[in-house]
Amino acid sequence: MENYNCKVNKRCGGCQLSNMSYEEQLTYKQRQVNALLSQFCRVEKIIGMKNPFHYRNKVQAAYYYDFRRRKTVSGVYQSNSKSIVPVDSCMLENEKADRIIVTIRRLCDTFKIVPYDIRKGSGFLRHVLIRYGNSTGEIMVVIVSSNPIFPSRNNFVKALLKEHPEITTVVHNINPSDINLALGERSKTLYGKGYIEDRLCGLTFRISPSSFYQVNSVQCETLYQKAIEFAELTGNETVFDSYCGTGTIGLIAASEAKQVLGVELNKNAVRDAVSNAKRNGVRNIYFTCDDAGEYLEYITGEGERFDVVIMDPPRAGSDVKFLKSVVKAQPKRVVYVSCNPVTLKRDLEFLTAEGYKVNRIQPVDMFPYTSHTEVVCALSAE
Ligand code: SAH
Repeated sequence: MENYNCKVNKRCGGCQLSNMSYEEQLTYKQRQVNALLSQFCRVEKIIGMKNPFHYRNKVQAAYYYDFRRRKTVSGVYQSNSKSIVPVDSCMLENEKADRIIVTIRRLCDTFKIVPYDIRKGSGFLRHVLIRYGNSTGEIMVVIVSSNPIFPSRNNFVKALLKEHPEITTVVHNINPSDINLALGERSKTLYGKGYIEDRLCGLTFRISPSSFYQVNSVQCETLYQKAIEFAELTGNETVFDSYCGTGTIGLIAASEAKQVLGVELNKNAVRDAVSNAKRNGVRNIYFTCDDAGEYLEYITGEGERFDVVIMDPPRAGSDVKFLKSVVKAQPKRVVYVSCNPVTLKRDLEFLTAEGYKVNRIQPVDMFPYTSHTEVVCALSAE
């Protein structure tokens, strides 16, 4: 295994645990999850990675023009700030993606493409987003700009593909807003199919520029397998997959369930989910684009019931509307996948007060060298 070796980690702030060995990090995360959640049930041993480096399949880089040295610089935003720390290679990011980011920086100078300056509100290139299909090798490059006029567009893309024939699609996205690292509504595919595919747990998934996809593909398979195991499916269950993203967990569960219903707020992710169902020939799954809480409240009001609810909310956790509807839907089991043990604790307090029992708590290290921990949790109606 490589050794951790980064010259900019203090300024970047992305690796909060860089002062610990990987073993120490696992112990630290285990203790943190135990302290928060062992009141509900015994916490199982955290599942770590064999090789905790270069696991990020989604990489973003910001660019600026260094007037003194008269060249373009690429890097990452310093935590909670608008200044960019120059970075050429990162211990956590996919290495191919890092090399493409450096090439784009060089091409910007060749083609006189000026990075966007948020203070002046001028310039073109805002950031680049790269997504890598870990098991297919497909690579998507999204060039995000402040306006639609891409100077020397065709030659730029040609030059990029010449240096990186491994790139399978290039998308131009326009983000006129003042939010850094965001994608705008408008996208144009400049090369390839406009999305990539990846394989997880035996199924193929389509990933568009803006849809959520777990950033660590290796650990993601372990996490999903645990979630499916905790759902204890026998083939007869109706499953509600909430916060379903591109439908990954629900699609994997579908072969062991009677029927699955997925709910997701992002309409692009829902579009991917529907196409993922088709692509994999899964016929017993349906998707709807809605707020998870509002939708569950509505269909439980209509008398719909579920045997299993799978929930995988963002860091802020779920909300009272959703949790109340879960209780009303009377599932026998709830599988809660969480990327934030603090909001998980709050939501488990709600569900246990309403009569649910926590049977298993499994931490999975999806984000080595950072302070984040993923936890999957099994609950049942008492
Ligand atoms: N289960 C998926 C996605 C998890 S990420 C996977 O493993 O890939 C959380 C998802 O919740 C994101 O796709 C986000 O768009 C969605 N989301 C956020 N708030 C939501 C809400 N209120 N209702 C439904 N979906 C929501």
